[in-house]
Amino acid sequence: MRIERITLTHVRVPLVEPFRISSGAVGEKDGIVVAVEADGITGYGESSPMSGSFYSTDTPESCWRELCETLAPAVLGQERASISEWNCLLAGLPAGNFTRTGLETALWDLEARRQGIPLYRLLGGTRAAIESGLAVGLYDTVDDTLRAAERYMAEGYKRLKLKIEPGRDVDLIRAARRAFGPVPMFVDANGAYRLEHLDVFRQLDEFELMMYEQPLAGPMLEESAELQARVRTPVCLDESLESVELLERAASLGSLRIANIKIQRVGGLENALRVHNACAARGIPCWMGTMPELGIGSAQAVALGTLGNCRFPTDVESCRRWFVDDIIQPLLEVSDGIIEIPEDCGLGWQPDLEKIRKYQVASASFEAAKS
Ligand SMILES: [Mg+2]
Repeated sequence: MRIERITLTHVRVPLVEPFRISSGAVGEKDGIVVAVEADGITGYGESSPMSGSFYSTDTPESCWRELCETLAPAVLGQERASISEWNCLLAGLPAGNFTRTGLETALWDLEARRQGIPLYRLLGGTRAAIESGLAVGLYDTVDDTLRAAERYMAEGYKRLKLKIEPGRDVDLIRAARRAFGPVPMFVDANGAYRLEHLDVFRQLDEFELMMYEQPLAGPMLEESAELQARVRTPVCLDESLESVELLERAASLGSLRIANIKIQRVGGLENALRVHNACAARGIPCWMGTMPELGIGSAQAVALGTLGNCRFPTDVESCRRWFVDDIIQPLLEVSDGIIEIPEDCGLGWQPDLEKIRKYQVASASFEAAKS
């Protein structure tokens, strides 16, 4: 397929409430919708950095610049036979992983639509429905946190994940266990702890949590291995896993027993698939995380979540959990803790062009010279 046109739309959708974790807070969700056209078919991707370097060094501004100045010009008018060949081209270009993901995931959607099959099948998934879990950010008090968790858990989510930071941890989880009983539960520290906090995790061991997600900072793989050796609960890595090479290294060191895969962080669906497969080969179960992305990015995570080694509920939640609105139709819904994937070709959900226009803050279009 020869890429004839690329359209970029920077959208900004207000959040229902500010999202707060150990590294900061945001009130709006930025995303860049990447539409790639070839042979009269359009594929859609999403580049989904949070504003203000929230989880990453990639920002909406850096992704926009790299898409406009580097990736779109390099891909326009080009022809490749497979996603892997497109990835070879993309890998040689100076751009961040969030930027790359926008274009790479659009190419996957384009390919699925060209073949007339759902994206999840193109990726090798077999289940048309997956389980969803609730994630609750940091609040000022234990009571506020529990109230937020209670409100959403009533919708039937399959497990509860609570964000923690030093000083808001053991008491919070003790109270949550008391309030929610034996529901599957775990904590996500977003790298806020150091090995000196070992005692916190020793105490948390008492609460039968499914995992400790990213207790230590991303680069601290040796320290994470030491922590894992000294606690009973499995350590799950998220921020650490920027590539399949880092996953391999972490696995060799014993730094994790569970992996949280983020499509944006690893630079697209093919890399995410490689991380999934490397985990499977090493007996490390994984699950699909979110940034969270808008609807297009969320639908991609759901598609990958249908793969065999994704053994825990995804972080993808009902779109209304985070956003006042979204850019796909129908809106992504979790019903009794389950997300059902439409059998339509491509993503399954359709981009809502009217909503994309409504929330647009910038747009740019690039057309190839006629061949
Ligand atoms: Mg996380």
